Amino acid sequence: PTPADDKIQEDRKLLPIYEKKQDILKAICENLFVIVTGETGSGKTTQIPQYVVDDMRREDILAPLPEKSAKKYPFKCNDAYDSRMDRREVRAVVTQPRRVAAIQMAKRVAIESGCRLGGHVGYTIRFEDNSNPDTGIKYVTDGILVRECLMDPNLENYDVVILDEAHERSLFTDILFSLVKQAVIRRKGALRLVVTSATLQTKLFSEFFFNCPIIEASGRCYPVDVMYIDSHPEKRILNSVKAAIRIHINEPIGDILVFLTGFDECDKACKMCHEELMKLHESGKEMAPMLIMPLYGSMNTKQQNQIFQKTPEGSRKIVFCTNIAETSLTVDGIAYVIDCGLVKQKVHNPETGMETLMVVPISQVQAQQRTGRAGRTMEGKCLRLYKHKDFEKKMPKQTVPEILRTNLCSTVLTLLNLGIKNVIQFEFIETPGKESLLFALKQLFLLKAVDKDAQLTDLGREMNRFPLEPSYAKLILASNFYKCQDDMVTLVSILSTENIWIPVAARDETRFNKLEDIRKGFSVENSDHLTLVNVYQSWKDTRYSESFLRKNFLLFRAMKQARKIREQLLEISDRIHYKNVEKYFESALGLSDDGPTEKRFRRCMTEGFYMNAARHIKAQKEGTYLTAHDKIIVKVDRWSVFDMFSNYPDWLLYTELAGTMTGNKGIMRLATDIKVKWIEKKIPMLEKVDMERLEYAG
Ligand code: ADP
Ligand code: MG
Repeated sequence: PTPADDKIQEDRKLLPIYEKKQDILKAICENLFVIVTGETGSGKTTQIPQYVVDDMRREDILAPLPEKSAKKYPFKCNDAYDSRMDRREVRAVVTQPRRVAAIQMAKRVAIESGCRLGGHVGYTIRFEDNSNPDTGIKYVTDGILVRECLMDPNLENYDVVILDEAHERSLFTDILFSLVKQAVIRRKGALRLVVTSATLQTKLFSEFFFNCPIIEASGRCYPVDVMYIDSHPEKRILNSVKAAIRIHINEPIGDILVFLTGFDECDKACKMCHEELMKLHESGKEMAPMLIMPLYGSMNTKQQNQIFQKTPEGSRKIVFCTNIAETSLTVDGIAYVIDCGLVKQKVHNPETGMETLMVVPISQVQAQQRTGRAGRTMEGKCLRLYKHKDFEKKMPKQTVPEILRTNLCSTVLTLLNLGIKNVIQFEFIETPGKESLLFALKQLFLLKAVDKDAQLTDLGREMNRFPLEPSYAKLILASNFYKCQDDMVTLVSILSTENIWIPVAARDETRFNKLEDIRKGFSVENSDHLTLVNVYQSWKDTRYSESFLRKNFLLFRAMKQARKIREQLLEISDRIHYKNVEKYFESALGLSDDGPTEKRFRRCMTEGFYMNAARHIKAQKEGTYLTAHDKIIVKVDRWSVFDMFSNYPDWLLYTELAGTMTGNKGIMRLATDIKVKWIEKKIPMLEKVDMERLEYAG
């Protein structure tokens, strides 16, 4: 080993979790379920998998449990049926609620264990597999492990499952609590579950897993001074930049972490911070060098690696981050935190079915987590850009788990595919409630993924082969019959990536106008969706040229990702049994091939999204629509072809609705013109769903 390797191994022993290594290993040997808690940065994510895989052997797991722990379980657990010893090494899978965290952690652990990424240590995220069948430590997103449960409900490939960052209570982690619990029970002692979490909610977790032991790794924590500044939420970027610079000028050395809500805000803040520093510099102010960088999920890897580099002596690092640095990724050396008190969150309203990304106040627990980022290496300070009164009055105590605030359509479809017949009765760690589950069943019924009795149909089974929201999966299946599959797969690929356009601020007038011209140039009349297809097709026609993207304000990374996703979706659609689902698309079968593709494409869109049809209200301001189903008022987006050309057809169908902070008026992000006769028969159906029957059966 090189001196660098020695240093890494020494550093590993300094992490707080190292003191608990033996306790953790012993607990895992002697119990089927174990909870490990510890402050962010104590080493849970990077160390526990290495302890398990390096220091345990399979025979440790297959050996009978001690009598006193076996007695705790109301099922047989000393009868591991798969005790064949085809291998002796332990294999662990570790879930992360975020893609970036899965990648970063795998990278870090590959370095620590001195092996190639994708070999002994690897990762798998949606649309990207960097592991092999012999990978010993595999980091995956929680969504991926849910998918693996579909193929292999007993998770036979693994000996230890680690559900990490459990306190985040992401939707899929919540589902995995139940699924993995069942798998552990069925494997009769051959599979272990470790749940790791910041020091929160451990009682709830422990009770769910037969009162399993909780091991606490104490964090080193220095006191953090908390200060409140009254700041308007809309001014959060400017005010946080100002606060950071004040700290830089007046406070002793130590890095600064600023929590904002989105990647665009982080980029903007970096720019603003550079500008402010320039001004100060010009006015002759002396100060230490400052490294300014953003940290968010969609950053490229090189940028991300920079974050973890030690700040050079005498200078200060300031990191503008999204929620990702709250618990998933740790930046060392932080002494100051500036917290805007807000977070971007998916919010779902089961009454209107609207699912929107909104900026909402964080919870008190999140505020404490953020504050805690400051006291890891030295005494710290935390500036909260809100009033103490708001902390107490406006912030909820706990974060509401995602499962309680999200659209469960795709989850319910997955559960049905797992053979769970009564989803309403499913044992969730905290149930999302009948209303949300019924709403999901209704959506699935309208998509014909389940029948009147809430049972999976052939269509629902094929839909679930795609790692996509059910409506999008249905679009791809339908497109085979409407003979527009190539275009539809293109569309869904683009919709599965983040925004493809380079963001341009309105005050940057020249560039803004240029972007508008470009987007107008690509637009296909009466369809934002066909416009996106056109953008992709034009790029493809240049043989995927990079200069084309640059010229047209398109994000290289997003487009490259769309291309990759496209290939994978085409691969999946090749394996679909279209014969099995033909009966659901009879109306398409008579369509002649030689009609305009564009028209078939629009008709196909109605198959997946007829519930989102909206009718123009002429009496109202132009561009105002009323949805056919829930009768909510919605408007077209500023960037839609309809607003750009002030052209408002009678009927539109949208795929995404963005909320506004005020009231329930939604904005149709992407819309397409449709003919009312395509949906006439379907709209009345929307009102006639037999909810009682669905409820009874589900
Ligand atoms: P936890 O999961 O308990 O929050 P981690 O295992 O993620 O803790 O991190 C433990 C420590 O490992 C961090 O405090 C940080 O110092 C270090 N670390 C994690 N990721 C990286 C990385 N990519 N580069 C350098 N150091 C890292
Ligand atoms: Mg962690």
